[in-house]
Amino acid sequence: MISYDDILAWVRRFAVTVAENKSYLTDLDSAIGDADHGINMDRGFTAVIDKLDGPDGLGGPDVGVVLRTVGTTLISKVGGASGPLYGMFFMGMGGAVAGKEALTLEEFATAYEAGLGGVLRIGKAEPGDKTMVDALIPARDALRAAIADGAAVGDAMARMADGAEQGMLATVPLVARKGRASYLGERSAGHQDPGATSSHLLLRSAAEVWAGR
Ligand code: ADP
Ligand code: MG
Repeated sequence: MISYDDILAWVRRFAVTVAENKSYLTDLDSAIGDADHGINMDRGFTAVIDKLDGPDGLGGPDVGVVLRTVGTTLISKVGGASGPLYGMFFMGMGGAVAGKEALTLEEFATAYEAGLGGVLRIGKAEPGDKTMVDALIPARDALRAAIADGAAVGDAMARMADGAEQGMLATVPLVARKGRASYLGERSAGHQDPGATSSHLLLRSAAEVWAGR
């Protein structure tokens, strides 16, 4: 099971990871965007942690409320495309598991699917458009395969993060068809997508905090 505290630990770990990778994400965005992806993500997750550490916390012990609150905080605090996109991801996840205090791996996969659906609905990116979707979809597929194999939580999350990492690396040769990078046309090829990189970090953070489970 993935508990309420596990979800909080994931959010906290990702916030630290984003802070550590702020310059890296911004450097990637400087090559094919407007050099703010790390800044946007760090602003959003700093606000999430402020809320988590504030008097009301993120609400709980309801996993759905926590994930939804992460989503609404990102939407209200981040101006760039990644704010609404990750906002919808977390709101979609939270909406799918409302009222639950802990999640089975299968329920986590269902929530993830709903989050991914939110990203696809508002961003309208397709696989191969050189966006975060190119990390999120292979991650979903790897999670599904791990569940089919009867993998434990830690192993399933490691496989999910590996799927995201492969998808992230595969964005390098792609020509962007969505977001600011698409303005560069062919010149966007040869660079790793910043959003696919942060999506890999998001899932790697979960794999790290849930390792050995
Ligand atoms: P902005 O593009 O507004 O500066 P960020 O730099 O924070 O926002 O985020 C850029 C990332 O957002 C891109 O690297 C890409 O992965 C992702 N992205 C942009 N547009 C879309 C979209 N329509 N669908 C999915 N992801 C997108
Ligand atoms: Mg940007």
